[in-house]
Amino acid sequence: MCGIVGYIGDRPAAPILLDGLARLEYRGYDSAGIALPDLHGGIAIHKAPGKLSGLIQSLASVALQGTSGIGHTRWATHGTPTMVNAHPHTDCTGNVAIVHNGIVENFVELKRELEDTGHQFTSETDSEVIPHLVESYLSQGLSLQEAVRSAALRIEGANAVVAASQRDPERIVAFRLGNAGGIVVGYGENEMLLASDLP
Ligand code: GLU
Repeated sequence: MCGIVGYIGDRPAAPILLDGLARLEYRGYDSAGIALPDLHGGIAIHKAPGKLSGLIQSLASVALQGTSGIGHTRWATHGTPTMVNAHPHTDCTGNVAIVHNGIVENFVELKRELEDTGHQFTSETDSEVIPHLVESYLSQGLSLQEAVRSAALRIEGANAVVAASQRDPERIVAFRLGNAGGIVVGYGENEMLLASDLP
């Protein structure tokens, strides 16, 4: 079982995400990554195969901005444990990023449908259908929350997901379907946290 963290508030998000992932290391994983919506309308993705310490080292000289973000430790089920397959995964525009625990049982059908409508995939994971589904619903004019809810209704299996988008940088959206590890929500002062488990 892998780990998910999310943060939104008024403190720098990256140290909180990385500390949160460290606290979830006991669950086991093969790669790690974070996504931070930046100040210029994009989302900065940082990920690495192997230990979380490797990701942290690779970030030593990187300016990590933003007060919201999502993070993940992956236990590969679909696709080898490589940088490309590590989470977060993004849509075609790079404006939607997701982290995912579980298995999208109907990802083959969804991927075919999305590719037929022009979506381009970069990883071997089942997870990548999720940001592309969210992208397709956003392009129909739905809000981030509605688009993630619509994507959740399309996927089958036990899944936990957290999504962030520059379309709505004041929000991160999470859902859990079935038992794919927990999602707990922490309420702070002017901040909220999400994680797979209490630590
Ligand atoms: N099925 C997804 C993958 O292989 C998520 C695995 C996990 O729960 O870490 O990337």
